[in-house]
Amino acid sequence: MKTTRREFIKNSILLGGSALLTPLSAHAKQEERWVPGYAKLEGEGKLAERVEQAYALFEQCQCCPRQCGVNRKKGERGFCRGRYKPMVYSAHPHFGEEVSLVGQGGSGTIFFSNCNLRCVFCQNWPISHEGKGKEMEDEGVADMMLDLQKTGCHNINLVTPTHVMPNILSATRIAFKKGLRIPLVYNTSGYERLEILKILDGIVDLYLPDMKYMDSEKAAQYSAGAANYPEVAKKAILEMHRQVGAHEVDKRGIALRGLMIRHLVMPNRVAGTEAFVKWVAEALPKSTYVNIMSQWRVEYKAFEHPEIARSITAQEFLEAMDGAEKAGLTNLDPHSVAMRSRYRRRL
Ligand code: SF4
Repeated sequence: MKTTRREFIKNSILLGGSALLTPLSAHAKQEERWVPGYAKLEGEGKLAERVEQAYALFEQCQCCPRQCGVNRKKGERGFCRGRYKPMVYSAHPHFGEEVSLVGQGGSGTIFFSNCNLRCVFCQNWPISHEGKGKEMEDEGVADMMLDLQKTGCHNINLVTPTHVMPNILSATRIAFKKGLRIPLVYNTSGYERLEILKILDGIVDLYLPDMKYMDSEKAAQYSAGAANYPEVAKKAILEMHRQVGAHEVDKRGIALRGLMIRHLVMPNRVAGTEAFVKWVAEALPKSTYVNIMSQWRVEYKAFEHPEIARSITAQEFLEAMDGAEKAGLTNLDPHSVAMRSRYRRRL
């Protein structure tokens, strides 16, 4: 769909006249110009095509690397148990996410039910494994987005979005038309197909992928046979970086765009932290935002696996942080840096 000049001017005005105003300072200029990716794409007349392209994937589901091939439109369900319509467990401002996502107003988190990775240690297992939640229309998800924006959230944080990506794109377009103007955060396990990420190119403002394991045996053992996770997630993260680049914030420190990688330290070096930080340092700029997380808890079926059935030790977390520093990473999440000081004091 092409955009007429009249529509372009109308969209510019709707976006706060960002394309028409002359900003005062370099910083103001950068922020004045900032509009979410989906708004630009809609302005170019491309968002509707992407929604259509994404929805076609449901007919022989190829939304994630499992590539089940089921027809979700006809009610068939694949590995993730996802349906044709999205299931949502909750939508609320979240104050426990990374500082630049939380700000003063919180991160507008929407938790989608079901999951395509299904780790044995999942902390949200009633939602991801058991599918607790309520079936919604895309219009309902759009209204949730708008409510979160109205509440003062700085972004829409889509938790476990992979298997409902078509619904999300459709909801985003509906919400944009009703006034959504805050960044979209794609909060994913990292188990993503490149073909799907290409559909998201220009729509997602912030990618927040996990990098869970560097070893395919561990990935298969703890994430339902996903032996290709390390290779798939590495390629996905490189593509995300190509699309959105480095983590960018506004003058208040609120994230607008970019890549933020999460890595949860696991007991007995199961997550392969040393290999992970080396890979980031070699494959991406050393200034890439990396959150080395200490929040490991023995949850769900982790109790059945002796290797991971305990908390992490102070030494394990400190080893992970020291490894990140040794690898030359310069943009570590402030929480992880604070946790390092706390763990050091404990020793
Ligand atoms: S999104 Fe679900 S149904 Fe589709 S390929 Fe992945 S696991 Fe299978």
